[in-house]
Amino acid sequence: MAGYRRQLYRDDAVVLRVQKLGESDRIITLLTRRHGRLRAVARGVRRTTSKFGARLEPFGHVDLQLAGDPKGELGSSLHTVSQVEGIDLYGKRFLGDYPRYTAASAIAETAERLTPVEREPSLRLFQLTLGALRALADGEHATTLVLDAYLLRGMALAGWAPALTACAVCGTPGRHRAFSVPAGGAVCPDCRPPGAAHPAPATIDLMSALTVGDWRIADATEHGVRRECSGLVAAHLQWHLERALRSLPLVDRGGVSSASGAGRPAGDTGTVAPAGAALPPDRASQDVSRESNE
Ligand SMILES: [Zn+2]
Repeated sequence: MAGYRRQLYRDDAVVLRVQKLGESDRIITLLTRRHGRLRAVARGVRRTTSKFGARLEPFGHVDLQLAGDPKGELGSSLHTVSQVEGIDLYGKRFLGDYPRYTAASAIAETAERLTPVEREPSLRLFQLTLGALRALADGEHATTLVLDAYLLRGMALAGWAPALTACAVCGTPGRHRAFSVPAGGAVCPDCRPPGAAHPAPATIDLMSALTVGDWRIADATEHGVRRECSGLVAAHLQWHLERALRSLPLVDRGGVSSASGAGRPAGDTGTVAPAGAALPPDRASQDVSRESNE
């Protein structure tokens, strides 16, 4: 503790990612309700006797006591988890269910990508992420619909929502037939760029329904429409994440925290793929060899 005035504080959070640290510790990436995204060291959790370990698995909703500076002003990137209680450990329910596990992985990775700077509170993204994981666990709606609804609303929070009810270029209202990711969504015949897609009208309707949470319409859609929707949503997300990534090194702070999300090559965003083919959980293997909180 020498020299550091580390505060204890509480928050609840979604566990986005877990990485090994040394022999027995883990680094937990958390999306907290009040303190934004942050990373914290959990000591000893890889020992079989640890009572923390099972509570700090990916996708859980947990209540935490953290040690560190909540504003991040001490120059120390990593906080320490000093207590944790499980509120809803959704990850358990995704084990053995590959589609739901991959959807949860895509949600967690997208949440991390949408919060490039640590400790910037985003209550709406927290609520959206928690709600999506809960909906996945409940299983009331199809997995792909829950994921696409999350991605569409997450993009809306980031200011990247695809235009659906008016031309993305000229703003002419209406349900336009062509869709262009670079143009920003649905486009009218006058503005349609070469290479624009021509999805089924029902696909645009599904994207609109998912954006506003009209599950009555969404649940009634057919497989082909859902698949086309997933493809457009994934393409739209990937386009904007790649553009955002290019500017990330400029805004990200140095240290361990910037190495994982922002430093990935832009081409790697191809892993943000349609539901079902979502992100491989390979990032847990990234090794973090340096601790900066002591
Ligand atoms: Zn137009």
